[in-house]
Amino acid sequence: MKTSNCRYCASPGFRISKLRPKDWPHLLLGNLPVRCRQCKQRDYRNALIALKLNRESKNRERDWRLRHAKDKHAGTRHSPA
Ligand SMILES: [Zn+2]
Repeated sequence: MKTSNCRYCASPGFRISKLRPKDWPHLLLGNLPVRCRQCKQRDYRNALIALKLNRESKNRERDWRLRHAKDKHAGTRHSPA
């Protein structure tokens, strides 16, 4: 979905921002505050999209770590003794 990209830098990477009192009107509309990982601009996203983006970026970080760990493991495993 196009709307999931940052309106300032078009980056798809977001994390959910800390809630502030002024966010309440947005929460009531079903939106969550998010912060762009690239340009750090604060914006609002539909809660479902925001949670999905948050999960996806977390998964990406975990995948990277898992892959990294696996590579290291495979490296030791396949290294000639
Ligand atoms: Zn941005």
